[in-house]
Amino acid sequence: MSIKKNFHTHTTYCDGKNTPEETVKAAIALGFTALGFSGHAHTPFDLSYAMSHAAADKYYAEINALKAEYCGRIELYCGIEQDYYSDEPVTRWDYVIGSVHYVLKNGEYIPVDETAQILKDAAIKHYGGDIYKLVEDYFATVADVVGKTNADIIGHFDLITKFNEGEAMFSESDPRYVDAYRAALIKLIPYNKPFEINTGAMARGYRSAPYPSKQILQDIYNMGGSIAISSDCHDKAALDYGFDEAASLAKSCGFKRFMVITKDGLKSEEL
Ligand SMILES: [Zn+2]
Ligand SMILES: [Zn+2]
Repeated sequence: MSIKKNFHTHTTYCDGKNTPEETVKAAIALGFTALGFSGHAHTPFDLSYAMSHAAADKYYAEINALKAEYCGRIELYCGIEQDYYSDEPVTRWDYVIGSVHYVLKNGEYIPVDETAQILKDAAIKHYGGDIYKLVEDYFATVADVVGKTNADIIGHFDLITKFNEGEAMFSESDPRYVDAYRAALIKLIPYNKPFEINTGAMARGYRSAPYPSKQILQDIYNMGGSIAISSDCHDKAALDYGFDEAASLAKSCGFKRFMVITKDGLKSEEL
């Protein structure tokens, strides 16, 4: 069964290509029954991609107006992708995706998803060239993402692997890597919030598989965790990009259900 819902969607209010209404129309054309917007919450130290507080107010008003306009045709939700270091209040949104996009080290916010070179340079500058130390700091931050952001969905758990296709930067079977992500899982599983399987980096050509990796998904399953499936859409043409592949990956790890946002909060559906 194809998945006809997405709750991780960016628009021109942040770094997405399309307006909210263009995206709603594309979702309806695909036969979607629900669409959730998740604009990037303001980060005071990096204004390059996120919504200002004023833009967040406009975004909130526009999505809520669209909800009324498209009522009966598609369920719309006004969420936010709350960065760990965002200063945007999380109280008014229909749901929150909690994401770590930076490692804070020696007063510097190191973006983990901008370029491979930034990560390599940061490892040299702050970690004596040991990239695993940077990875350890990343997962130590992720471990606290629900506590910090009050997230309903845990965003791209292993974003630090964005530029690690073919293990170009570090080995994902190295015990230090495995220990770092497992320590984060141990802290996050008790919150009982879904980990998203995110196809965004596939849609944009950085990766051949979704986040998180199969080994991490298998661990999430074995530890009793749950999943959501999202395209981290920045372009309406990619609203359901890789959903079939994400669903097969989830099934291959043992998952039979995935979580979705509803008017009554998170509910599970059959994969
Ligand atoms: Zn993100
Ligand atoms: Zn996103």
